[in-house]
Amino acid sequence: MLYLFCGLLGGGILAAICTPLFRREATLESAIIEETEWDLLQRKKEVILGNIQDLEFEYKCGKLSEEDYQKIRAEMNAEAAQVFQQVENLESSADLDALIRREISARKIQSKGSSQTTCPSCAAKNPVTNRFCAECGAKLKH
Ligand SMILES: [Zn+2]
Repeated sequence: MLYLFCGLLGGGILAAICTPLFRREATLESAIIEETEWDLLQRKKEVILGNIQDLEFEYKCGKLSEEDYQKIRAEMNAEAAQVFQQVENLESSADLDALIRREISARKIQSKGSSQTTCPSCAAKNPVTNRFCAECGAKLKH
């Protein structure tokens, strides 16, 4: 019964922590979807928040002393504050320069995707968008 209670409590905390984050993430991600510094920070943030959640869970279940909890929690809070600050800096600097950098890395990802493929029949190089070899007309494997 105690275990169930802790589970519910843990879930509630998780929902409370994550709900505003997801909302924020959705708006930004709909703008530009790609791997950026911002994404890295989001992952870092998720890890830290996950750690805090685990810590709270263990504390509420009596596995941690008040002293340990306060000490570890303070460290985690500092870590989280740092990441939140970095995210904020990044978002407030969402000026033209940052947008251009994002666009450039998006283009890089795209061009990586549209690389060349070798014809299985004549070994000619074809863009992966080609379904048939431009040299010999053989069907290209993707
Ligand atoms: Zn060919």
